[in-house]
Amino acid sequence: MFDAMKQVLPAHRAHPRQFEDFKLVYPVLSRRSGGISIGLNMNPDRKCSFNCIYCQVDRSSMPVNAWFDLAVAENELRAMLDMVESGALGKLSQFREVPEELLQLKDVALSGDGEPTLLPGFAEAVEMVARVKPTGVKLLLITDAAGLDRAEVKRGLATMDAHDGEIWAKLDAGTEEYFKLIDRTSMPFARILKNLAECAKVHPIVIQSMFMKVYGHGPSAEEIGAYSDRLLEILAANGSIKQVQIGTVARAPMATINGRPAWHSVTALSDAELDAIRDCVRHRTCLPTESYYGGHGPENRG
Ligand code: SF4
Repeated sequence: MFDAMKQVLPAHRAHPRQFEDFKLVYPVLSRRSGGISIGLNMNPDRKCSFNCIYCQVDRSSMPVNAWFDLAVAENELRAMLDMVESGALGKLSQFREVPEELLQLKDVALSGDGEPTLLPGFAEAVEMVARVKPTGVKLLLITDAAGLDRAEVKRGLATMDAHDGEIWAKLDAGTEEYFKLIDRTSMPFARILKNLAECAKVHPIVIQSMFMKVYGHGPSAEEIGAYSDRLLEILAANGSIKQVQIGTVARAPMATINGRPAWHSVTALSDAELDAIRDCVRHRTCLPTESYYGGHGPENRG
């Protein structure tokens, strides 16, 4: 029996957001989902509220005429669902070596080259996916949490609740200073924390966190302690956290730091370093916490 948690296949490492002739929809063999995840690129314009130092989206040139067309997305999603259901996906070269049990569709993920909740008409896009996806297949939102307080987004989340929805929200720091270093946004850390806490009160969330070495140094023990405290604060405010996923950089970042490519200064933690963080967070919070190693981070597709 294939152990989906332990083994990493070449197809697990590949997360291209451009698939054949599709513009907005792409398939991913997802280790976290334990099967196929169909991604929707809600931000072909690459807009994001963050500018993470580990981001793998190339923003050195901005795309021309790149917008999210709901009708195109629906047609492509229907075509991709047909490919998975008919077995045509498994016959493609990149999936040919994948065991059959991992070619089952597990979720449709709202993700992309930026922050999905920035899409005008976010709620409408959620409604489309809820209508088209098979019942029982999860509807995931992979988000940086910056927009979770917007009315439009809350409408979309309510639709998700009625259609096997799950929110995977980013938290990369425990202190404002480290948050600014890693996620590089003008948004106050307090607003992100408030959004996470408010959201987790209504919808149980999965926290996704990326830790790495910056100029050779990983996060300090104090930072991981502060990060654990932020998780505990969400719980203390009656929030519900289903799981904490801790990962490190899996591929060379495309971001720039002081005009230089980020891969000069941003590198992966070792498996042992990641496990030490996981154990510390587990111990401090008693939350189910998993580590995802350098060969494959959590489903952070940004
Ligand atoms: S990693 Fe995700 S949240 Fe961060 S800048 Fe890239 S797309 Fe935005």
